[in-house]
Amino acid sequence: MIFQYYPSVAHNYKFELNKDIHLASAHFNPHESAGKSRNMHGHTFIVNITIGGNELADSGFLVNFGTINEMVYDKFDSTVLNDHPEFSETFPTTEGIAQTLFHLIEKELEALPNKPKLLQVLVRENPSSYVAYRG
Ligand SMILES: [Zn+2]
Repeated sequence: MIFQYYPSVAHNYKFELNKDIHLASAHFNPHESAGKSRNMHGHTFIVNITIGGNELADSGFLVNFGTINEMVYDKFDSTVLNDHPEFSETFPTTEGIAQTLFHLIEKELEALPNKPKLLQVLVRENPSSYVAYRG
């Protein structure tokens, strides 16, 4: 199934966690070259987050899947992405979403005692288009 194809990330971590999140969100790109994307419209973005690590937390998790949901789904689902301060400098294009989510998640992971490492954020806008960002 095409939605489940992800480019893999080369790494040597013992654990690799992948979390998929569906974000039903709206966006627009005000840039003059954006064509129809200048109009607000929606997608069900499929975000795949890849995290590596060698050490588990005391909970037995590399990262609690629920924590990732709080960082991404709870914050951005059913919203207009352009309204978020995180997108005040970068338009929420598929590329901008991948980059912004990467830095947001990376910052949160750095605070965890077992130091999981964010390896990739992939944002699929529709069945034929996705962007992967690796920091
Ligand atoms: Zn769009």
